[in-house]
Amino acid sequence: MSRPQQVCVLGATGSIGLSTLDVLARHPQRYQVFAITGYSRLAELEALCLTHRPQFAVVANDEQARHLLGGLQAAGLKTRVLVGEQGLCEVAGHPDVDVVMAAIVGAAGLKPTLAAVQAGKRVLLANKEALVMSGALFMHEVHASGAVLLPIDSEHNAIFQCMPGDYARGLDQVGVRRILLTASGGPFRETPLEALANVTPEQACAHPNWSMGRKISVDSASMMNKGLELIEACWLFDAAPSRVEVVIHPQSVIHSLVDYVDGSVLAQLGNPDMRTPIAHALAWPERIDSGVSPLDLFSVARLDFQAPDEQRFPCLRLAREAAEAGGSAPAVLNAANEVAVAAFLERRIRFTEIAVIIDEVLNREAAAPVECLDAVLAADKRAREAAQAWLRGHDR
Ligand code: NAD
Ligand code: MG
Repeated sequence: MSRPQQVCVLGATGSIGLSTLDVLARHPQRYQVFAITGYSRLAELEALCLTHRPQFAVVANDEQARHLLGGLQAAGLKTRVLVGEQGLCEVAGHPDVDVVMAAIVGAAGLKPTLAAVQAGKRVLLANKEALVMSGALFMHEVHASGAVLLPIDSEHNAIFQCMPGDYARGLDQVGVRRILLTASGGPFRETPLEALANVTPEQACAHPNWSMGRKISVDSASMMNKGLELIEACWLFDAAPSRVEVVIHPQSVIHSLVDYVDGSVLAQLGNPDMRTPIAHALAWPERIDSGVSPLDLFSVARLDFQAPDEQRFPCLRLAREAAEAGGSAPAVLNAANEVAVAAFLERRIRFTEIAVIIDEVLNREAAAPVECLDAVLAADKRAREAAQAWLRGHDR
């Protein structure tokens, strides 16, 4: 094999970032860690630098940079330390980088992920919020630059694996009828409806099948995660929202399915461990070991399916409506959700108020066309302000 591929891991200290570094470390001949980034958890970032010896590390501010640089130099490392969004964009688009794992959480990942796309990298997309916010623009940049966009979200990675290689010709052209997007239903799938107003952040973050960051864990509990994924699927596979059906599948063994016009339904199965889609996207079209244990169907024993209940999961309806409205609506939905989830995690609002806030912000901010990144960022900002205004009214 030629020289190892140089990998930039945006959001290296997070759940996806750490799983990515785990897979990379299994294949030192094939991959080298070129850059890692973190926003908090500086001690962990420093430890990761000592293990993976990247060329660059990126932190949130100058104080963190001084601190990190001091520790790295004391250990004899020559890692360069960059700061803030500019530093993130610099490493994501660096000419020496081959692969970028986009695993920053939320809208903060948009510009660095776009920088990787515009530089024509192989982009492994975990940061679904970036695509949800800027859908048409994002996909336009992918096509213009020739970037190779590979989904890391387990569902979209599964769909990608079940699609024919030439799906970009159009779903009708390749005989795809529907995309079946599976969802575990999260920790509150069977909680009595009247108890949902009193659930705690700890309960919301205790996902039955997956171990993830706190924001996506709350999104999974409200099923906004599935709503964001519905929008993500529409952009990745050029599908109308009506072609994407959400199926609750509590075991999280089938990661999604593709339904063809001849009646064939293809599914991808595996243990719920993000190292599988990460390894898939890193090596595609080849296959490499991910460290995930083989699926034991006898211990799984059964696979259940049910339709989602929109009364229990109003966020799913809000996301579908935003997908159908298009334009700025998904960016508004995402921004309002980010503010509401943060407020829930800070115990300022009830779990059930997440959907109330998003609904109100969506009603206030009529969907407008978004022709440039500034328009996306403006919609994001307005929606955050509207959500913050709701919170201020609520705190009084
Ligand atoms: P996490 O909270 O564990 O990690 C987030 C990472 O982003 C951390 O490295 C953090 O330092 C960094 N970060 C946070 N705010 C930042 C900011 N303002 N600027 C720069 N960096 C910042 O989250 P996660 O669970 O790893 O999820 C990351 C992304 O992957 C999310 O978009 C999530 O939806 C997606 N995703 C995660 C999973 C999963 O299993 N964890 C599955 C599918 C998709
Ligand atoms: Mg997912």
